[in-house]
Amino acid sequence: MSKAIVSSLYDSEVFRMACRQFDKAADAISLPDTLRDRTKYPRRCLAVSLPIRRQDGSVTVFEGYRVQHNLSTGPSKGGIRFHQSVTLGEVAALSMWMSWKTSLVGLPYGGAKGGVIVDPHTLSETELEHLSRRYMQEMVNFLGPHVDVPAPDVGTNEKIMGWMMDTYSNHVGHLEPAIVTGKPIALGGSQGRREATGEGVAYLVKQYLRDLKVPIGRATVAIQGFGNVGSETARALARYGAKIIAISDHTGAFHHPKGINIEKALTYVRSQKVLRDFDGGEPITNAELLELKCTVLIPAALERVITEKNAAQLKCRMLAEAANGPTTNAADKIIDERGDIEVIPDVLCNSGGVIVSYFEWLQNLSNFYWDREEVMTKLFAMLDKAKLSVDAQKKKFQFSRRLAALTLGIQRVADAKQSRGLFP
Ligand code: NAD
Repeated sequence: MSKAIVSSLYDSEVFRMACRQFDKAADAISLPDTLRDRTKYPRRCLAVSLPIRRQDGSVTVFEGYRVQHNLSTGPSKGGIRFHQSVTLGEVAALSMWMSWKTSLVGLPYGGAKGGVIVDPHTLSETELEHLSRRYMQEMVNFLGPHVDVPAPDVGTNEKIMGWMMDTYSNHVGHLEPAIVTGKPIALGGSQGRREATGEGVAYLVKQYLRDLKVPIGRATVAIQGFGNVGSETARALARYGAKIIAISDHTGAFHHPKGINIEKALTYVRSQKVLRDFDGGEPITNAELLELKCTVLIPAALERVITEKNAAQLKCRMLAEAANGPTTNAADKIIDERGDIEVIPDVLCNSGGVIVSYFEWLQNLSNFYWDREEVMTKLFAMLDKAKLSVDAQKKKFQFSRRLAALTLGIQRVADAKQSRGLFP
């Protein structure tokens, strides 16, 4: 039996969670021992120190990471997170999920993730630009349009991707838009990329409600997180006719049983940056939001918010995982045993983001740009295909939907490694 001899480099609760998910899936498909550890562990990582001159003349050093989990199936792909609680282990876990996700939806990519330990809200615009550019400068030799292609994640956005693209392009001496995705449209970003993850989540929720024969006009929805993904999911679901009864961000949660006016919330956040003191609903706590009675619960913030403490108390019919890794292994077991909640697992649910990132990369490489309708039509077609394959796998092996999605994703990565040999 082969056994990995590895250090505790990535050890953390969230990395162990991703590893337990992998082990369960690998057992379910009887993945040979010779393939297990090299499919499971990240291929390589880079940790960098990022000194930034502050507005007051002082210098602060931030720490950043990039973990490339798998490069066997194409350039690795995954977002960059700016958040105060980033750890190398978290970035490694997120990179594993990116591998299973790109593989599940059939993209010619591996998986990666990046992060910087910083609360971006505490930086001025200039400091944020310096940090973003410095991160890319340190990563120049580790990334590339055919090596590893970053995108936005928590705490990063189009503007940051634009700065990073510019830094890389200045280094190589020519414009290289395909180095990152999620850029502003003026710099080669794709139509529809900003809303792609949320649109994809909303589309899958709509399709799964249809399978359950629940009219979307009668569905109530609670969403945790009102950033890029949460707010775009809310907007798309409201457009489909669902009633969004609760929204939240890190500054507070708001509940309105008759439905929150999402356009009003979006306007509020555009001017105030956060939901604090929003008057479109009753203030509740983020913990209460997760336990509200609703048709669809959508965690769209950080990992590990559905735990063994609240899994038994959930009162939703469907759990749509817009965030990566929102459900712990213990909570997953409780939800499986309850059997009354349809789970759309993260690797399927939020895959709209990386799908349209792929479209952006294709457009950059070919210098031929698509209109929004083409992007959305192709996005929904790929989501339909992924949904069909997950549900067929679920039915064939009597798996949970998460296990079905993970086994499909992991199998393809393992097959590529098997065919290529030991090096990639
Ligand atoms: P974002 O930074 O735009 O928004 C994050 C939101 O979560 C903010 O509203 C923030 O206030 C909120 N939040 C943070 N901590 C919270 C807490 N403790 N309680 C409640 N709300 C909290 O980030 P995003 O891009 O929307 O990413 C959200 C999730 O979606 C992450 O798990 C990310 O990995 C995942 N995701 C993002 C994309 C993408 O395209 N951006 C794609 C796939 C998956």
